[in-house]
Amino acid sequence: VFNTPGANANAVKELVLAALLSVGMILSLTACGGGSDKETVSYKVGTEPTFPPFDTTDEDQNIVGLDMDLIKAIGKDQGFEVTFENLSFDGLIPALKAGNINIVAAGMNKDDKERQKQVDFSDAYYESQLYVVVAEDNNDIKSIDDLTPDMKVAAQTGTTGAEKVKTLKKEGKIKEAVIVDGLDTAMMQLINGDVSAVINDKPVNEAYMKKKPDKVKMVGKALNAENYGFAVAKGNDELLEKINKGLANIKEDGTYDKLVDEWFNK
Ligand code: GLN
Repeated sequence: VFNTPGANANAVKELVLAALLSVGMILSLTACGGGSDKETVSYKVGTEPTFPPFDTTDEDQNIVGLDMDLIKAIGKDQGFEVTFENLSFDGLIPALKAGNINIVAAGMNKDDKERQKQVDFSDAYYESQLYVVVAEDNNDIKSIDDLTPDMKVAAQTGTTGAEKVKTLKKEGKIKEAVIVDGLDTAMMQLINGDVSAVINDKPVNEAYMKKKPDKVKMVGKALNAENYGFAVAKGNDELLEKINKGLANIKEDGTYDKLVDEWFNK
């Protein structure tokens, strides 16, 4: 093929074409990557979106909420982007450990010792407490001490509330621990009279009561005190540092207060 002048010229043309093509590919690859060191990292953030105003969905089923806006603002401050993944609450820590997600933003109590063994938590970003919730017209249950061995009590799977409900069951104080996937399911069972009470976080109960007035109420005293933190895989200090720095910055510049205010006054 290479011993006739015509074929030679063609071969040269092909080589030039091939060279031009590969230069083009390299250029477009660099463009996609945003140019080596300016590249924006994107982290996968896992949540369980039946926990408004922290974690919920909009009318188009997009994951939204205070947690989402906080982690977005932290990312903006620290130069990373985020995408959101919808998981069951008890699937969040396993997903983090498996590397399927990079961050948990789910109103998760960072003071829980079992969780601390498995993941690392950011600085606290919100204080919360667990409360007993009953139907609005229930006048028999005025505190946790009024729960009786014939009652069913519900909570969302994998939560601190579920731990409390399971302990009540173990101590023989209630008949059944109804552990469900999704807080909306637990609340629905309460309104339908399938369970006598739900144990869940105060700010989320309050948001529920505001959105659906005269359905449920909180009774008694706080059952605990908790602090929400963002979780990352154990040893991911680099990401943890970014989250903590970003959180401090958005608290300082007023973004944090603005977002809390926005989500609690929707
Ligand atoms: N704060 C509770 C916990 O950490 C509940 C969180 C939730 O249901 N999203 O378990």
